[in-house]
Amino acid sequence: MSQAIPDPGKSALRPLRLLLIDDNPHDRELATRALSQHFGAVTVVLARDADEFEQTIAEGEFDAAIIDYELHWTRGIEALRRIRRSRPECPVLMFTASGSTELAVEAMKEGLDDYVTKTPKHYARLPYALVACLDRRSAERARAQLAAVVESSEDAIIGMTLEGIVTSWNGGAARLLGYTSDEAHGQSIEAVVPPQLRQEEAATLVRIAHGEQVNHYETVRVARDGRAIPVSVRLSPILDRTGRIVGISKIARDMTERKRVEEALRLADQRKDAFLATLAHELRNPLAPIRYATRLLDPGVPPQMASDARKMIDRQLAQMAHLLDDLLDVSRVTRGVLEIQREQLDLREIIESAAASARPLAEVAGQALTLNVPAEPLPVSGDAVRLAQILGNLLHNATKYTPAGGHVVVTASGEGDEILISVKDDGIGIAPEALRTIFELFVQLEAPGTRSTGGLGIGLSLARDLVRLHGGTIEAQSAGPGLGSEFVIRLPRVEEVAALTGPVAAPEKVTALGAANVCVLIVDDNIDAATSLSYVLTLARYRTAVAHDGKRALEIAETLKPAIVLLDIGLPGMSGHEVARRLRAAPWGRDLRMIAVTGWGQESDRAKSLEAGFDAHLTKPIDPEMLLEHIARAARNVAQREAG
Ligand code: ADP
Repeated sequence: MSQAIPDPGKSALRPLRLLLIDDNPHDRELATRALSQHFGAVTVVLARDADEFEQTIAEGEFDAAIIDYELHWTRGIEALRRIRRSRPECPVLMFTASGSTELAVEAMKEGLDDYVTKTPKHYARLPYALVACLDRRSAERARAQLAAVVESSEDAIIGMTLEGIVTSWNGGAARLLGYTSDEAHGQSIEAVVPPQLRQEEAATLVRIAHGEQVNHYETVRVARDGRAIPVSVRLSPILDRTGRIVGISKIARDMTERKRVEEALRLADQRKDAFLATLAHELRNPLAPIRYATRLLDPGVPPQMASDARKMIDRQLAQMAHLLDDLLDVSRVTRGVLEIQREQLDLREIIESAAASARPLAEVAGQALTLNVPAEPLPVSGDAVRLAQILGNLLHNATKYTPAGGHVVVTASGEGDEILISVKDDGIGIAPEALRTIFELFVQLEAPGTRSTGGLGIGLSLARDLVRLHGGTIEAQSAGPGLGSEFVIRLPRVEEVAALTGPVAAPEKVTALGAANVCVLIVDDNIDAATSLSYVLTLARYRTAVAHDGKRALEIAETLKPAIVLLDIGLPGMSGHEVARRLRAAPWGRDLRMIAVTGWGQESDRAKSLEAGFDAHLTKPIDPEMLLEHIARAARNVAQREAG
């Protein structure tokens, strides 16, 4: 015996409830018996007059209604209309002896599910007709539910003929591709396939038509507005009841967000690699002067050289320690364990102290450093060491990214409940699109290998994090490349003020020396590296000259015509490669021995050096013995040539 499936939400766990509307008690009796015989457990709710009817409708506790046509209180068609108004989905069956085909047709138009003629032998048919109605309604509900699920899916779900003509198009497809369901219906799916992929799409449809399923693959679709959208697509055949393939279903998922995340990860990874290369370079750089300078501490070295060497070691070690401190701080910020020790401070003292530390750098770089601080105190609550670190980083950058002859101005003022500090330079400036990214970790605007300024790309990121820990903000401004930069920090002002420690001691200036027969030109923008190397060579009885940039190197070379040039690659203004090319091209430059002495040690860096005309590529820190051997060999060649 087949059992109707009523609305699963309501009546799955209770007997079927039927509303029976019939004036005749005898007929009601017969109908109830026929239904009970068929369904077993069934509850029949009676409506014998208008009041009972209204009450039952209001309670709504029935799964289907059976109505007679002739009623003493209304007509069957009116009862049908009333039920439809409040229960449009409820199966209604008319069971009447007084109807006609015309009446049946009219009632069907009003939403009647079925019509059974009431004769004694038709009572047995009643339950079967009811089961059919309930089954149909239930199937309709299931279909509607499925349609709603498909419609509300975020994914584009598209039905097509085997030829790729769209037959269904859900809300997800409309949102993703920009065509409404009406617009897409009847069109070829090719409209959303980029021209270069159409052949491939057609071949895929043929595969599906032969019963294959095409699992997720990544491709591109074109939206109505021409945007290319990365999607993950899955195609499968649609089968009819007999298993015949009658269409193709396609599910396309928008991959834009995933692609964006992947791209961000790729960039972060790339930045990390660049950072590691730069880190190696930055750690190697100070090692070179330290290595040379330690040789100058041997007994017998002139006292001035030994004293200079000690200072160089000190300075370079301080530089390395500073780098490592910044690195550790960045790691602390990333792990959320960096804390600041707040106290009441007068920011003027921090600025003066930071400026005093930066002044020697500015002097070596040939820049003017000016302070504009007000006469009255600038009270903040903060960590003196961290605030000095922030300003130190900004000042260090300002001198690094400003050519000789430039200006660096630090201005501080109180504005309302804020304290503003500006570090402004008239240096190389920053392109507008780069202003957004420079505070991100490891971001450096020049590509590694072309940089001459050093640094790890963490100074600004750390400065931003430290300013945030102080409850402040930092922003960068620049009118563009070549037009200088300004960094503005805003900190909350507080009421009281406390004193600070004095400025940090300034490093001293060093100058190059030289003596003896074969002339060696040393070109390095790291002054300590150049000087210490020149000392080592001087002690080995070479005549040396020193330049700190490419232009100066060319000038000195033109005058002195050195036999050997030791050339750094990352130089301000003109790269070491360019200097090498020009030296080699000089009339006297053919026999010149050129050695690249650099922190960049990858295979590609070596290849670039050889291509630029270098004879050798040595990576810092170079063992002094090895370098001396190189130079001795070159010197012997020069001597032989001159003798021959
Ligand atoms: P770096 O160690 O490379 O100096 P920072 O985080 O301190 O790293 O700075 C990030 C980048 O921002 C630098 O590589 C540089 O390109 C740019 N930049 C920072 N300060 C300045 C400035 N005053 N003028 C021009 N560019 C700057």
